[in-house]
Amino acid sequence: MTLRWLACELHTHTIHSDAAHTLEEMAGVARELELDWIALTDHNTVSGWAGKERVEREQGIRILPGLEWTTFYGHMLTLGANVLHKADWRLTGPDDIDEGISGIHQSGGLAGIAHPFRMGSPICTGCFWEFAIGKWRALDYIEVWNGTSPNTKAFNERAYRFWTELLNLGIRLPAVSGRDWHHSQVSKETTIAVTYLGIGGEGALAGQSQHAEHAELSPHVPAADWGEQQLLEAIRQGSASVTLGPLLTLQVRDSGSAESSTAEIGRIYQTGEVVGMQSNGSSRWSVTIEADFEVRKRQWMIAEQELRLRLVGSKGTVAEWGIPAASVTVEACPDLSGELWLRAELYGSMNGQTGLLAFTNCIYVEEQA
Ligand SMILES: [Zn+2]
Ligand SMILES: [Zn+2]
Repeated sequence: MTLRWLACELHTHTIHSDAAHTLEEMAGVARELELDWIALTDHNTVSGWAGKERVEREQGIRILPGLEWTTFYGHMLTLGANVLHKADWRLTGPDDIDEGISGIHQSGGLAGIAHPFRMGSPICTGCFWEFAIGKWRALDYIEVWNGTSPNTKAFNERAYRFWTELLNLGIRLPAVSGRDWHHSQVSKETTIAVTYLGIGGEGALAGQSQHAEHAELSPHVPAADWGEQQLLEAIRQGSASVTLGPLLTLQVRDSGSAESSTAEIGRIYQTGEVVGMQSNGSSRWSVTIEADFEVRKRQWMIAEQELRLRLVGSKGTVAEWGIPAASVTVEACPDLSGELWLRAELYGSMNGQTGLLAFTNCIYVEEQA
């Protein structure tokens, strides 16, 4: 199955809450940034949703309706059109979160934690996540990169480590970026992350028929792209890759063993999927990482250098390559026994800052009896 990767910005604000721009202005800039979708997530209001269809039509970009549920105890992003009719946004006690999340799920929406470790009160009231979080499994995603130049911020580093700890506990939580977009003035040194969401074969066809009535919305975008449900499903699944530039993708291919059924041999797993291991051995699993430097090329620059590409698992670094700042595909046949998950990470320097440049979501590994 070949995935189609859509460039998305999943955390934005307009003048309907505390931002400087209108939805129209932001959508115009988003189109210049070659984004396919933006999620509108104003603080505790959906008044900005009015006129969404007109802006989509005029600017040739898709808008996913959402909201940032902003309380004194934490900020939670919700995505999906029906979310607001079900959830009661006045619930703001530290123990009310479970009820809020189940309301969101009943309406078919998604709930994600925004910037869990950003400085809280008095700098930003409620920015630090303080809800009772015994039930991380109930959440749909975590925003591990918040704001512009996200790889330079300590609170994001902490969120990334926290995500890794959750994964190591067996909690399969997808991770995304969010610009927390409030205005469009950025300096030259600023880098902007995007989350690519992978929309798949069958889903794409379903979306085509389901959303055929929207096909006339924009002449710029093929009908197959018009699917809010597909987008939500990609986030829910973890069919996602976060980057400051090149698109990183990760696949595991089952090369088969003596006991393999023919259905298993050749099967390809994408991020968000679970590889079921019946027999170990290094030869059976072939892992492919692809770094695509052709995507949204006008929007970012990585100078010539040797970048570090890593395959990481729950036990640490599984494999590592030095690669040029150019499109490349690498392969490994690692022993996956004892691993709970795998992801790819790209390190290097960009705009004078050295660090993590891109990462994929996880392919999970499960030992079967
Ligand atoms: Zn927030
Ligand atoms: Zn926000």
